[in-house]
Amino acid sequence: MIIQRVVLNSRPGKNGNPVAENFRIEEDNLPDNINEGQVQVRTLYLSVDPYMVDPQLANGHLSYFLGAIGMPGLTSLIGIQEKGHITAGSNQTMVVSGAAGACGSLAGQIGHLMGCSRVVGICGTQEKCHLLTSELGFDAAINYKKGNVAEQLREFCPAGVDVYFDNVGGDISDTVISQMNQNSHIILCGQISQYNKDVPYPPPLPPAVEAIQKERNITRERFLVLNYKDEFESGILQLSQWFKEGKLKIKETVVNGLENMGVAFQSMMTGGNIGKQIVCISEETSL
Ligand code: NAP
Repeated sequence: MIIQRVVLNSRPGKNGNPVAENFRIEEDNLPDNINEGQVQVRTLYLSVDPYMVDPQLANGHLSYFLGAIGMPGLTSLIGIQEKGHITAGSNQTMVVSGAAGACGSLAGQIGHLMGCSRVVGICGTQEKCHLLTSELGFDAAINYKKGNVAEQLREFCPAGVDVYFDNVGGDISDTVISQMNQNSHIILCGQISQYNKDVPYPPPLPPAVEAIQKERNITRERFLVLNYKDEFESGILQLSQWFKEGKLKIKETVVNGLENMGVAFQSMMTGGNIGKQIVCISEETSL
């Protein structure tokens, strides 16, 4: 079978504009039959995007473009900017669930950078709690698998919760919402505790929690980072700047080998990761 492929023919050069001739079409032969363990893929659509990654934005850490200086970073930053209603100097308390994950570990730090006076994380191990408070600047952390979350939340958020960056939904979120203040805000980033259940998105709150949300005028609007493409470029620059200034600490959990993709996915879904879960195929860092 004859196939066509697009390859990089040349680079635009420093400060040059990309032109069509930077790409070249090649033809190649693929065997008609595929062997056991192989898959045959047909491309239906290709995306062309108005940017190429500049390795300097991440000081050469290319994997950061999959995490803090990529989609999860933008999700945390834009989610907070669009739905968090943070006003520096107004003594707001932020709570982050899924706080040691890719989005959560950044969201808490960004909450502080944007002016929250107190940031409390909720996550699934003592090791994660320790990391949040000792390295990432969280003021307190709660292990939801140990002890009473509601009690610890009352202790760590004595003035109530003003902004909730919600990655998980379910019981944890019901507990947080019950301690939110009048006119406070939920950033509905994700609901990972509900993804393997047959429920609509966003999952409806239990009636008693929904009543609290309504009585206290707590906002809980859907948020999807892909709806904010106009903010991506400035967002990436902001994240890169914070990283280079040492204001944004980046964590990742790396598993080596394409064959471990499934293991890495399962591990991430069950809390095996700290920061962004990455699968490293090649440690080659030059482009
Ligand atoms: P992540 O937080 O790095 O990894 C998932 C984490 O979720 C796990 O490490 C685990 O940590 C926690 N978790 C798993 N099951 C849980 C449960 N039943 N209850 C509580 N915590 C649980 O993943 P991510 O990529 O940053 O994504 C976080 C959330 O953001 C997801 O809900 C995702 O769908 C959402 N997201 C939304 C957008 C958007 O545009 N709105 C974009 C990207 C991602 P523990 O050890 O703490 O349990």
